[in-house]
Amino acid sequence: MASPAIATLQDAYRQCRDVGMRLSRQRRLVLELLWREKEHLSARDIFERLNSDGRSIGHTSVYQNLEALQSAGIIECIERASGRLYGYRSDPHSHLICEASGSILDLDVVLPEALLLRIEAETGYCITGYTLQLSGTPSAARSPISGRPAESRGMAMGNAGGEDDARQGNHLPVQGDL
Ligand SMILES: [Zn+2]
Repeated sequence: MASPAIATLQDAYRQCRDVGMRLSRQRRLVLELLWREKEHLSARDIFERLNSDGRSIGHTSVYQNLEALQSAGIIECIERASGRLYGYRSDPHSHLICEASGSILDLDVVLPEALLLRIEAETGYCITGYTLQLSGTPSAARSPISGRPAESRGMAMGNAGGEDDARQGNHLPVQGDL
């Protein structure tokens, strides 16, 4: 890995310092909000939430800080048809997109070794990493994880009967480390 994983807000601050970025008040506000909300937000969402919290910050400042943070690899940026969304996680991870609300859930999906080996055999490539984009609608059968995910969820696919294990939310091996 090129840089150590950012696991906490403090790690994000440290990473800023390591790459020579000044930790201005505005930059801290943007990072704090992303780590608190743990959603994928537009620049406008972030601007509005900070100002409604009584944090005086200009729209241009929010936008410039988001761009600087994402180009330094400290936060995530997703290109959507409706514009860019920013998230607190910078490590490789998968997404589940709700077709009803458009909200995006972070997931750590671990594909079974046998599937990866088969893909390698079929393509002639050595798979070094993957991220998945899944889409779906909330299931009536069980309450979906919705709203503001408090943490990302680890998920080992193909783990028969391991549903409870998969719901614990622990970090399973990150897909980039295969
Ligand atoms: Zn994400």
